Parts: sequence; structure tokens; C-alpha cells
Amino acid sequence: CGIFGIYSSDGKLDVAKITYFGLYALQHRGQESSGIAVNDSGNIIYHKDSGLVNEVFNEVVLNHLKGYSAIGHVRYSTTGKSDRENAQPLVIKYRKGHMALAHNGNLVNAHIIREKLEQEGAIFQTTIDSEVIASLISRNRIKSENIEEAILKTMDEIKGAYSLLILTPNKLIAVRDPYGLRPLVMGRINNSICFASETCALDTIGAEYIRDVEPGEIISVSRNGIKSKKYKNCTKHLCVFEFIYFARADSYLEGISVYEIRKRLGRQLCKESYVDCDIVIGVPDSGTTAAIGFAEEAGIPFSEGFIKNRYIGRTFIKPEQSQREIAVKIKLNVLKNNVAGKRVVLIDDSIVRGTTSRKIIKMLRDAGATEVHLRISSPPVVFPCYYGIDTPDRKELIAANYLTEEIARILGADSLEYLSLNGLNEVFEGKINQFCTACFNGEYVTEIPENFNKYILE
Ligand code: SF4
Ligand code: MG
Repeated sequence: CGIFGIYSSDGKLDVAKITYFGLYALQHRGQESSGIAVNDSGNIIYHKDSGLVNEVFNEVVLNHLKGYSAIGHVRYSTTGKSDRENAQPLVIKYRKGHMALAHNGNLVNAHIIREKLEQEGAIFQTTIDSEVIASLISRNRIKSENIEEAILKTMDEIKGAYSLLILTPNKLIAVRDPYGLRPLVMGRINNSICFASETCALDTIGAEYIRDVEPGEIISVSRNGIKSKKYKNCTKHLCVFEFIYFARADSYLEGISVYEIRKRLGRQLCKESYVDCDIVIGVPDSGTTAAIGFAEEAGIPFSEGFIKNRYIGRTFIKPEQSQREIAVKIKLNVLKNNVAGKRVVLIDDSIVRGTTSRKIIKMLRDAGATEVHLRISSPPVVFPCYYGIDTPDRKELIAANYLTEEIARILGADSLEYLSLNGLNEVFEGKINQFCTACFNGEYVTEIPENFNKYILE
């Protein structure tokens, strides 16, 4: 998911419109639903629906969302079906007033907490784990001095990944889980503070980047200024997949350029698995930058192999397998003249189920490529993600079930090599232990409750 929030201290900014543009820049983080909530003198009004940002909002709707602070959300479902009822921000009324909440990430113990709350008579309107967070904050608020204290108590209970933006009648609050699994940055525009999942949203609205929200940090912005609190025992474990695939290439995460990392991943991949060929091509868009890095390192020309239809979203993100199969075909067409009679190195960022690579390799062969060598700019994905990237169960992860040579054969490639874990560490200058890499090595930063699966709340 993608989240964005802004607090306009003088009320002079059109916070809904700025949030709209912020979400637009974060659309790659989720295409299932979009929503914006604004706080108008203690009254929270909102609009949300399934669909892309520009489908859900128009001038008329935005003009109704007047206020001095706002949060917004674009959704990519991991927990909870992608129904309209599960759109965010969640807006709730509780004893202390209104609250809106936008969540990026995935809890691993939401089902346990929810079961307990339901036993006590709590009711839930959605099947998303985010509602469990809202419910706990509301409960903890009763015996807390302020909402920050209630959030700290909630952080004792919830486990997993969460970057949160919370709108209250007089505050905008940003929270990052104690591992910083999902990104969240803080910026400034015209003396107003804003937060976004990625810096590309700050660039879009013309805001200046201040810093990343730290793991376990709670930043509240109000009329009294900016206050920061820190949860105990925090460590840095930002999801490395944000760099490999998920984030936009023009973003900086913890000060590191996503584009630079992708290029370096390609270079490193070439160092490890060079193959003599005529051209290097990337699977658009996610494989392109690594392909450029590979080509530079190999001294083999980079060439465009495909033209992408710009008007469809990320194939992986469509939840049904049947939809995903069709989506690959309408997404890409091969540039026959560029590949016919050529030995091709094909670069992609990752293989999950193998659906994309298999189709693309077939397209290249049909277009006359004489050899297709597949190179992947990340290690094999052999463990599922429980922290908000929608990788499937182990039984659907091709690398969890087959050896690399077998995968090459299944996908129809002449050869297949993945980046090594050591190579990944190299790219991050020996600091890979400051990132989550669980989908490659199974080292989850939190405990994962037994029988956990992402459909558990349904
Ligand atoms: Fe990211 Fe993989 Fe960790 Fe999930 S398991 S947070 S995808 S690195
Ligand atoms: Mg891709």
C-alpha cells in the first residue's frame, strides 16, 4: 500500500488536492482502492472506493474535502479481500472523538488479537488487520494521557509491519513499526509537514525531504509543533524488496537511491553470471534498470525487447491467478526486429511463481531470438512474505519447489542464474543485515504465529 498525509498549520493549503497528487505518485504501491480523509475542525470527512486514484476522485469530490489536515491511502491487498469495504483510510468514532487511520504493511498476529477482542464483544466492519490497530488504539486511549501513549501501548501488542498515518481532530501522527519494515518519510511544503511512503510523492507535490521516520518512531504534528517519541528496542530492517521491486526507481529509501541500487544489482549479477550474448534486455518496467547495469558491466548493448502498454497496472497486483495470466499478454508486445536472430540476456528483478518469465521467454523465441538466458537481480524467493508484499504460499513459489536448472527448463530458458545473497550484501556495502531479507533466507524479524496465512481474517 501507499500512504500520504499532510498537516497545514495555517489552513492555507488545499490538503485534499495535495494528498490526491501524493497518492497519484504512490499508485504503483497499490491499485485496488483509493481514499482520502480530511479533518475539518474536528469533524473527519472522507471519500474512498475501489479503483485507481484518478477513478475514485474528481474535482467535485476533492472540492468537498475541505480541511487543514488530510491522510490518504492506495491499497494493495495482503490481509483482507480486495473489497470496497476494505478501502482505507479507516474512519472511526470512539470515546475521544474521530480518528482516521491509513496503514501500509501487514500484521502477523492480527487474527489472534481480533479473536480476543471479539470474545469480549468487539465488532469489526472490515476484514483488514488495520481495523485491529484502530480498535486497540481506541481501547488503550481510555487509560492513557494522550493518543501517543495509547499508540505506544498498542505497539506492545501488535506484531509485524506497519507504517501508519493517523488523523485526529487536532493532530497528524506518523508511526513506523520497531523494525521499520515498510518505508515512511517526512517532508515540508510551505511550512506544512507531510508524510509519504516514498520520496517520489514529495517530489511530485514540490515538498522538500526532511528525513525518514525512524523505526519505532511516533511523530505527531499539531498546533504545538512536531513531537517525536520512540518505542523501545528498535532495529533497522527495511524490506529489501522495496529496493529490488516495489518502490519507484526515483525514490530514496533511508537516503539510498532505489535507481542506483537496481543498477548495482544488475552490475553485480553480471559479475556473478556473465554470459556471452548479442543484446541485454529487461522485463519492463521492473527489470529495466538492472538490465542497464548488467549491460554496462558486460559491455553488451542494452536494447528494448518489449513495448509495454502503459494503460494497465502491475500484473502481479491483480489478486486472481486467472486475471494475472491474461494481464501478462495484454501488457507487453515484443519488438521483433530487435530480437530476431539474436542471443538475448533477459533480466528481471524477481521470479515468484514464474508466470511472467515463462510467457516472456516464449514471446522472445516466437519472435526469433536464438538463445534466451535469464538473469534475475535478486536471490531466489523461497519463503513467503508476511509483512505486506503479496508473495504466495511456499507451494506456489517456484524456487521453493525446484532446483535452478529445473526452473530454467520449466521456464524455457537456455540458462538461469540468480543474484547470490552475498552479491546482495555486496550491493548494500556489507550492510544487508540492516534490512529484512526473509523471503530469501527465512530469517523473519518477528515470530510468525503457527498456521498464519494472509486470508486468516476472512
Ligand atoms: Fe520484504 Fe521479503 Fe522481508 Fe517481505 S519477507 S518484508 S518482501 S524482504
Ligand atoms: Mg516485473
